[in-house]
Amino acid sequence: MTKMFKIALPDGSVKEMPEGSTPADVAAAIGPGLAKAALAAKVDGEVRDIMRPFEGDASLALITSRDEKDALDLVRHDFAHILAEAVQNLYPGTQITFGPATEDGFYYDFAPTPEHGPFTEEELPAIEQEMRRIIAADKALVREVWTRDRVRDFFAKTGEAFKAEWVMELPEGETITMYRTGEGEGAWIDLCRGPHLASTGKLDPNAFKLTRVSGAYWRGDPKNPMLSRIYGTAWLNKKQLDEYLKRLEEAAKRDHRKIGQDMDLFHLQAEAHGSVFWHPHGFIVWRALEAYMRRRIDEAGYQEIKTPQLMDARQWEKSGHWGKYRENMFVVPDEIPSTDEDKPILSGKADLMALKPMNCPGHIQVFKQGITSYRELPIRLYENGSCHRNEPHGALHGLMRVRQFTQDDAHIFCTDEQLVDEVSKFCQLADRVYRDLGFEKYAIKLALRPDKRAGTDEQWDRAEQELRDAVRAAGFATAEYGWEELPGEGAFYAPKLEWHLTDAIGRTWQVGTIQADRVMPGLLDAAYVGEDGEKHTPVMLHRAIFGSYERFIGILIEHYAGKFPLWLAPVQTVVATIVSDADAYANEVAAKLADAGVRVETDLRNEKINYKVREHSLAKVPLLLVVGKREADEGTVAVRRLGSEDRQVVMSVDQALSMIREESIPPDLTPH
Ligand SMILES: [Zn+2]
Ligand SMILES: [Zn+2]
Repeated sequence: MTKMFKIALPDGSVKEMPEGSTPADVAAAIGPGLAKAALAAKVDGEVRDIMRPFEGDASLALITSRDEKDALDLVRHDFAHILAEAVQNLYPGTQITFGPATEDGFYYDFAPTPEHGPFTEEELPAIEQEMRRIIAADKALVREVWTRDRVRDFFAKTGEAFKAEWVMELPEGETITMYRTGEGEGAWIDLCRGPHLASTGKLDPNAFKLTRVSGAYWRGDPKNPMLSRIYGTAWLNKKQLDEYLKRLEEAAKRDHRKIGQDMDLFHLQAEAHGSVFWHPHGFIVWRALEAYMRRRIDEAGYQEIKTPQLMDARQWEKSGHWGKYRENMFVVPDEIPSTDEDKPILSGKADLMALKPMNCPGHIQVFKQGITSYRELPIRLYENGSCHRNEPHGALHGLMRVRQFTQDDAHIFCTDEQLVDEVSKFCQLADRVYRDLGFEKYAIKLALRPDKRAGTDEQWDRAEQELRDAVRAAGFATAEYGWEELPGEGAFYAPKLEWHLTDAIGRTWQVGTIQADRVMPGLLDAAYVGEDGEKHTPVMLHRAIFGSYERFIGILIEHYAGKFPLWLAPVQTVVATIVSDADAYANEVAAKLADAGVRVETDLRNEKINYKVREHSLAKVPLLLVVGKREADEGTVAVRRLGSEDRQVVMSVDQALSMIREESIPPDLTPH
């Protein structure tokens, strides 16, 4: 008699299926529409091929294109295989290595033949065409279980040295799967864990694009051979691809590095990898933000401090950073270098110090001065804290990823009883800041316990519940605020809340965080005297709203596309002349504005006014005050706004001044 398996469906019903049947059979039994739409299956929570037979009783959820994340992962992985097959069809002798799905597509690393050398972007259209041919052939993707030796022999025979090397490192006896694309002569095969769609024809041939090539070392190790990596982006349909390409184009226009140059805000150079040279215009934005943040933290009951850049290695040992974090720290000997030519610059015998990678241990030192009573808690210490982290050069990116950065960092020392209220207040403060800075949409997420963690389950239950309660108390644990819990994403010692901003073109940026720490204060002997007269360890809340000034300014530049609101604009207005007879008048107007605190420049060059307008609009100057003979005679200015430069409004200098002053008031100082 045939064995029957019980297959539980998401609606609670159970289907009896004979041994050997597959999720595809269940889909077909439910209806032809679902049979066509189903891409893969979740069997007992694991994503699997739709054609893979059940192994026993199981729960089943069919994956269709509506399950966008799973569906995207699947198709991207399929595209990677098809890319590899296409490349081997077109360039025989090319060896395959690995090709995973990525956040927006896929890549595959190849070892081209020495005669061919690395792939070039000129070759991509031909490869795309071959990929479309493979998709059109609607070849089945079939999972096969092989032994390790069989896999090795196969790859050795087909000249795939990388794959043959790799497979022998898999544990003996482990189930090894190979995926075959197509049958017989035209079959292509790759070592792969899967899962995949049932056939190449399930993919939309117009939903992908090969985007670029780069070099990548085999296994990411510079000692190994350099491979040639081909990247692609892939989606479920052409509409999604087009939207994505449009977003990329829009993002390129907003690139903060480009706008930073157009507006003369900052630069980076090789002599200081990952550290920013701020120019006068850029630092005006920084100062406006810093002043704004100071007002916000002052009113929220924080105290500002400044702690040392360099601290003794022993301090970092005690805080635990020396052991786990040292590879990211800049270590400096506590020694005066020798200028003697015959001697080494450093003796190598000095004590070691390190540039701080974070401010927390320094803040604990401030907290520890004197005796603190429970009556003084909470104590909120804030620092515009400059930190250094040693990131590899390749990971650095403009202002977004730097090695020297300044956090808007604060640590709140409080009792267990005060914790929820403090976190709740922080939620409100963060809300005000993000709205003031022009972000109407953001999401709050709670990152929950990871698999590897310190502490007991009871401690984690409590820590997670406290953060949840705090967000609820602040009124933000709702869909409107994108409230979401992220299993497994907390730090190893505590859960954390994260703020993700959505920018003007729909991208999200994780910026703010708050985290309750019951470990570090104890490690560094922070204590307060409780109501009972005994010593207690305070809870320490680590929190930031911007994250870092550098990255946050980068995000602001891209969010506003450089068109800052007046209070942040480096140059708020330029007085530009039409004719040179108006020079004296232009200077007079500019002086009057400057006296009133307006950031104003003049443009008296002997150039056509349209040329001047274009140039200042490229530099994103919000307001242009155009003056000619008539304006000089009448004591007026013609105001042109960035974005509608062809329209102008003539007004008196006083009117213009009061308009500019009113628009320049920072949002927290605007009367309501
Ligand atoms: Zn694969
Ligand atoms: Zn901290």
